[in-house]
Amino acid sequence: MYDVIIIGAGPGGIFSAYELMKQDENLKIAVFDAGRSLEQRHCPIDGEKVKSCIGCKTCAIMNGFGGAGAFSDGKYNITNDFGGTLYEYIGRQKALELMKYVDTINMSHGGEGTKMYSTAGTDLKKVCLQNKLKLLDASVRHLGTDVNYVVLKNLYDEMKDHMDFFFDTPVEKIQVKEDGYLVSTKDAEYACKKCIVSVGRSGSKWMETVCEDLEIPTKSNRVDIGVRVELPAVIFSHLTDELYESKIVYRTEKFEDNVRTFCMNPYGIVVNENTNGIVTVNGHSYDSPDLRTENTNFALLVAKHFSEPFKDSNGYGESIARLSNMLGGGVIVQRFGDLVRGRRSNQKRIEEGLVTPTLSATPGDLSLVLPKRILDGIIEMIYALDKIAPGTANDDTLLYGVEVKFYNMEVELDENLQSRYPGLYIIGDGSGVTHSLSHASASGVYVARHILESEGKAI
Ligand SMILES: Cc1cc2nc3c(=O)[nH]c(=O)nc-3n(C[C@H](O)[C@H](O)[C@H](O)COP(=O)(O)OP(=O)(O)OC[C@H]3O[C@@H](n4cnc5c(N)ncnc54)[C@H](O)[C@@H]3O)c2cc1C
Repeated sequence: MYDVIIIGAGPGGIFSAYELMKQDENLKIAVFDAGRSLEQRHCPIDGEKVKSCIGCKTCAIMNGFGGAGAFSDGKYNITNDFGGTLYEYIGRQKALELMKYVDTINMSHGGEGTKMYSTAGTDLKKVCLQNKLKLLDASVRHLGTDVNYVVLKNLYDEMKDHMDFFFDTPVEKIQVKEDGYLVSTKDAEYACKKCIVSVGRSGSKWMETVCEDLEIPTKSNRVDIGVRVELPAVIFSHLTDELYESKIVYRTEKFEDNVRTFCMNPYGIVVNENTNGIVTVNGHSYDSPDLRTENTNFALLVAKHFSEPFKDSNGYGESIARLSNMLGGGVIVQRFGDLVRGRRSNQKRIEEGLVTPTLSATPGDLSLVLPKRILDGIIEMIYALDKIAPGTANDDTLLYGVEVKFYNMEVELDENLQSRYPGLYIIGDGSGVTHSLSHASASGVYVARHILESEGKAI
């Protein structure tokens, strides 16, 4: 019998496994992941001039050691202002303390030398407020996709001889037993005393079935929908050089909706993202100057909260993403100038434009995909951003759609991130509590320590 089985080897799973190993080397731990080991994770269309995702059974971008974070930009935001609601369970101070602890581990595993940015003391806050924009507080460590990979590799090398890793092994079922839990895969069953479930966004559908089977209450009422903006890096450089990522919120005049910037990637690239067969857009960037592009990209997102009787917020987001996939065969790209003139972009106008796209997407018309209220909000925000970063509203600014931020349903958990079954913990993005690398990782450390404490092991 294992002491602890961890399902999902994303940041949540990795940091719980790492902390358990560090604090008690005698624990018998197993980690299961539906995807592959880090070095075997390759997207088959990466580097090819293929526009659309070919829909692999398990997506190399989302699944495997490192989870959705493996090829991410490696931006670890240390803040309670966004990235999840971990603080609601464990308190603001504890949440920040654990995010800082995660940072020290990243630094000691290859991240040293990377830069920590902060909004503390910046004049940009005032400039934003003068233009009806609010800059949120955060410190952000930017590892970059390249250094992030090195950190993950070093963590794996340190852990691999101390626990059993099962890759390419999706867990199918969790059963509650008298002395713990029984975890079933296609070919075998594994017993454990405690179980940590950290299956991320890609495991959201499976997580729903687990919660149904075990009658764990859930709720789901939010989805964020928008576009990814790509423009010449110089337009945003006064913000990105100082802050790297600026989280800016704008309240629209027309509908009083909040539109916000999300996942800013200076000198980065725009990429496809496949969630359960639906292709949406995302972005990342590298720490190495050799791998930089001339563009910066970021998302503009509008949060949609639904009230009774509608419950399927993710289904709503998926339907919009499917529409763009239907029209464009994947992600659609449009020049801002074409969007406001009410015409679709075509290859010629994109090629003649001043911004060279970093993702090969289908030129099209986002107004045929995005609901009016969301599109109007995005257009308003682009004009607002143009005041603090002139050039944002240029005709050649590229908009890729759609970007959807799916929120996993929120699982009902106690203050220890434990479900109604003692010893069954649900953490990371799969729990609905976190939406980011730092929060997911911190939730992993938190439950590892709770397990150790409940076993009477001092930390
Ligand atoms: C392209 C991209 C860029 C991003 N950039 C950033 C960024 O810069 N900063 C930031 O804070 N966040 C970023 N994110 C989000 C971040 O990656 C996630 O918030 C984070 O990875 C969540 O960690 P997690 O451990 O909860 O889940 P995940 O990282 O999603 O890991 C879950 C793991 O569980 C596995 N799994 C799922 N179901 C099962 C099952 N049934 N059995 C076994 N294994 C299963 C999956 O294969 C996966 O490996 C980015 C995401 C993407 C896709």
